[in-house]
Amino acid sequence: MVHTLIIGSGTAGCVLAARLSEDPGHTVRVVEAGSHWAHSDDFPPELADSAELPLGDRASWLWRYSVALTPDRPGTIVRGRGIGGSGSVNGSYFIRAAARDFAAWSGETGSRSWDFGAALPYFRALENDHDYGDHPGHGRAGPVPVRRIVRPTPLIQEFGAACRDLGFGEVADWNALPGGPESGVGPVPCTVGPPDASGRRHRIGPAHSYLLPALSRPNLTVQGDTLVIRLRFQGTRVTGADCLIDGKPETIRAERVVLCAGAIESAALLLRSGIGPGEQSAALGIPVVAEVPVGGWFTDHPEIGIDYRHPAPAGRSVPLEYVLEFDDIEIRPYTVAFIPGAYRMGVTLMRPTSAGSIRLTTADPLTAPRIEHGYLETADDRTRLRDAVELAGQILESMAAEPLGAAGPVSDRWLRDRLGTSQHLAGTCRMGRAGDPRAVVDDRFRVHGVAGLSVVDLSVVPVPLSRGPQATVVLLAERATAELR
Ligand SMILES: Cc1cc2nc3c(=O)[nH]c(=O)nc-3n(C[C@H](O)[C@H](O)[C@H](O)COP(=O)(O)OP(=O)(O)OC[C@H]3O[C@@H](n4cnc5c(N)ncnc54)[C@H](O)[C@@H]3O)c2cc1C
Repeated sequence: MVHTLIIGSGTAGCVLAARLSEDPGHTVRVVEAGSHWAHSDDFPPELADSAELPLGDRASWLWRYSVALTPDRPGTIVRGRGIGGSGSVNGSYFIRAAARDFAAWSGETGSRSWDFGAALPYFRALENDHDYGDHPGHGRAGPVPVRRIVRPTPLIQEFGAACRDLGFGEVADWNALPGGPESGVGPVPCTVGPPDASGRRHRIGPAHSYLLPALSRPNLTVQGDTLVIRLRFQGTRVTGADCLIDGKPETIRAERVVLCAGAIESAALLLRSGIGPGEQSAALGIPVVAEVPVGGWFTDHPEIGIDYRHPAPAGRSVPLEYVLEFDDIEIRPYTVAFIPGAYRMGVTLMRPTSAGSIRLTTADPLTAPRIEHGYLETADDRTRLRDAVELAGQILESMAAEPLGAAGPVSDRWLRDRLGTSQHLAGTCRMGRAGDPRAVVDDRFRVHGVAGLSVVDLSVVPVPLSRGPQATVVLLAERATAELR
């Protein structure tokens, strides 16, 4: 029997597996629903090129879900499936959450253990910042390479100039102390390699930074094509997990189980295993193991996509070279095309007041949960997005860009028609104090009311993050290692 069974080798799973197995006396087994690419060269070429968002309809390395962004606006979201998880398919953007996010997070746990001061030593230790590694608050010795695009493509140069003309300051380093600048325009820190002769850069996800270098350890086993369908218990102690390995059922036993299946699948697995709202479990005929509010709340970043034409030649670097941030808004001038012949500007609300929920519709492990984002439910969210879209219009005008689609006032309908998501779903298994009716895990990642079970992934983050979540997921998995050693 292994000491720790890790379910899912995505961003958090890769970090945790590599860190826990540093102790040769600690046996770690990782099971992953998707492929196990054991060498960098085994990865599909689409995943290697950081200029691509490898999200094609038929991609075998994705989970794909139908969701309701609002009751009358359906959408599709994806997650990475395979070693590195979503970190193997993402946009490489790696900005730390802001100090105010950590202050709010600490407030949820009722202690200082999650404030920015507690996070900073981990941020420093996990990065190898090629631009600012020697600056205060940064590191040069960690496994995660961080680079910014020094010479932006012509389109992004125009974007930067337009933002400066509108009075926004230049931000050289979004990860600078104290806790990140609050507003301005500047280059995105990215987890990519140096440019090759043709200017392309490798996407360097958590598999490359953490898991692959650890694979030769005898105390670490990683197994792909293994779908966990349910957890096993003795009373309220977890004893292992039921899996389908290449489609064949098998039970894996472990002293301790850590769920790293991501904010959708970790929640779904708990619910299927009888850890969730009691009424929901009972209605589906699932024996109740512990009553905790799994899936009752989540947050994600709603994003309005404005497509436009611009004469600047398409560049090939990273999907997002620069961002503009102010208040709770991030404006993203993508360099990848979402529709042929056009560019897209994403206008994103980073701390929405509306929240979503996930629930099962059946106990069948192969049926996806129902996901309702609850976007734009509050007038506050709609107003802030509308104002931001108007500002994006001024930027586009200053860039002499030609927006596509009907012009006119930004009504609620206009917003809904262009509504999408940033793919940052978080918080389905919120961290918080025992007795908090919204909390699923404690501040040390342990599921309330169940022994031997932890959740370590984006599920646990209990507050909206002002930035994309990847850096925060790596951070929380590094922190979890200290708890689980
Ligand atoms: C297309 C896309 C682009 C993004 N771009 C950015 C970006 O540029 N910057 C940023 O900050 N954030 C970005 N994100 C978000 C970020 O990548 C994720 O939030 C982060 O990687 C989540 O890490 P995680 O460990 O919680 O889950 P994941 O990395 O999703 O890992 C979950 C793993 O568990 C496995 N798994 C799930 N269920 C089971 C099961 N039942 N049995 C076995 N294995 C299972 C999955 O296959 C997967 O490998 C993006 C996300 C997507 C999808």
